[in-house]
Amino acid sequence: MNHNLLADLLLPEITKDIEYYREKYPSRNLDKKQIVTRFAPSPTGFIHMGSLYSAFVSSSFAANTNGVVFLRIEDTDKKREVENGIEGIVDDLKKYSINFDEGATIGGEYGPYIQSERKEIYQTFIKHLIREGLAYPCFCSEEELENIRKSQEANKERLGYYGKWAIGRNLTLEEIQSNLEQGKKYTIRLKSPGDFNRRITHMDLVKGKVEFPENDLDIVIMKGDGIPTYHFAHLVDDYLMGTTHVIRGDEWLSSVPVHLQLFQTFKLEPPKYAHISPIVKNDGGSRRKLSKRKDPESAISFYHQKGIPEEAVKIYLATLTNTNFEEWYNQNPDKGLKDFNFTFEKMNASGALFDLDKLINISKTYFSRLSGEEVYAGALKYYLEYDKEFACIIERNKEHTINILNIERYIKKPRKDISAYEDIKEEIWYLFDELYLDKDEKDLFKNNEADLEHETSILDEYIDKYYDKDDDKQTWFNKVKELAQNHGYAGSMKEYRDNQDSFKGHVGTICEYIRFALTSKTKTPDLYEILKLLDKDSIKKRFIKFKTFLNN
Ligand code: GLU
Repeated sequence: MNHNLLADLLLPEITKDIEYYREKYPSRNLDKKQIVTRFAPSPTGFIHMGSLYSAFVSSSFAANTNGVVFLRIEDTDKKREVENGIEGIVDDLKKYSINFDEGATIGGEYGPYIQSERKEIYQTFIKHLIREGLAYPCFCSEEELENIRKSQEANKERLGYYGKWAIGRNLTLEEIQSNLEQGKKYTIRLKSPGDFNRRITHMDLVKGKVEFPENDLDIVIMKGDGIPTYHFAHLVDDYLMGTTHVIRGDEWLSSVPVHLQLFQTFKLEPPKYAHISPIVKNDGGSRRKLSKRKDPESAISFYHQKGIPEEAVKIYLATLTNTNFEEWYNQNPDKGLKDFNFTFEKMNASGALFDLDKLINISKTYFSRLSGEEVYAGALKYYLEYDKEFACIIERNKEHTINILNIERYIKKPRKDISAYEDIKEEIWYLFDELYLDKDEKDLFKNNEADLEHETSILDEYIDKYYDKDDDKQTWFNKVKELAQNHGYAGSMKEYRDNQDSFKGHVGTICEYIRFALTSKTKTPDLYEILKLLDKDSIKKRFIKFKTFLNN
């Protein structure tokens, strides 16, 4: 068979050769340690936790080695495509500050980075294989393929298009020509040089040593519409784009024999492969992949709506990526993601277990490490989107808000009551007079947990005799103690415990009482700090509100 003739017959419009592309896309000038990798989603319009995880892992490894990460859009499967599918992905990734050095919508010297714009390149590589006698057209219809399968089943033989079953291999040039003249549809298949009885060993960066039989299937490399399959596009793209590390979901692990064979066919060195496990979830005793359909926490919008900061989500993803990350993060309160050295050895080979509670805890730690100003800025942005009224209040009272957020922040064990921006309103609203004083006292105190109704004189006495905004904490506390003692309460917990019958309670009881009368809450950050943030007039009005409630 004259393979040159066949190649021209099948792909007449392809005039370049692979050397042309080798020269067009020269090797990258990087040292051995620098990783070149990519994130290669289909244009589905949005990302979800699983794809964000993939993108995070790829970009982290590249950043660690000062390497390159690019964004490639894999749109060879038209069925998975949606309108504006690329923009949605790019926007989501931007929100998460996953930055690419090159790629779709960014550009770069190794582009185009959208597979549908690379048809000519793929076909050039396919034409090369046909010329070499390593690929051929297959005119088998669905029905014929089905018949092959049935015969294999009947004979109890392994399924697939291989060996004697690969009938397209034996077509003569004349037969091919005649099929083409009749306008018959065809695909291009690889003439596999593999032998199923031989085994290959693959060293995966995550899964370790894996053994497979050689691939002997004549896989389709170009579909009927002239578009390559994923396998073939992967070879061409990752070769020409200089990918050193293919980091991808482990659903591709079983394709490794095909991919290694494709690289071999072109006498190219394959990239290194790191097959990462999917994010899984405990579901009634068993584990399953986190599902876009079933699990709301799989959607990126879930975190956006709650106001869980993107950085906190990424920190959580880092704990899923490397088993030693969490300890490092806890031990290094002044360090961030970019300071951590991610390694493939510390990747979980069997499935990263998603735990929303843990993510929320990490977010609390993250918030506790921010400055009050940073929390304020994030909160303002969040409430401008989700609660304009509250946004206006904190905007008008910027300093007051930051002061509130700063309570118990710059101490050894900072407060951890905020896990998301949506929590903030609930945690601080009562310190804004315009919200608090406007509320009906019946609503405010409906869960009246301060059982000291008769002690309202304590409130009057506190504000009239003891209150001084400038007191330091010790002086303030001594005063409350005195006030307590004057009313028959013990000055300390110990004193009270030693002699319970002689006291109505202790100084702590009085603090709880003041707290409740002031905020309608039994739990707030430090009372002294709260009193400092409210002016005398506000404190008075709040006490009056409480008394009004008790008197009605
Ligand atoms: N487009 C493939 C996917 O979404 C990418 C696999 C790869 O990274 O090579 O699964």
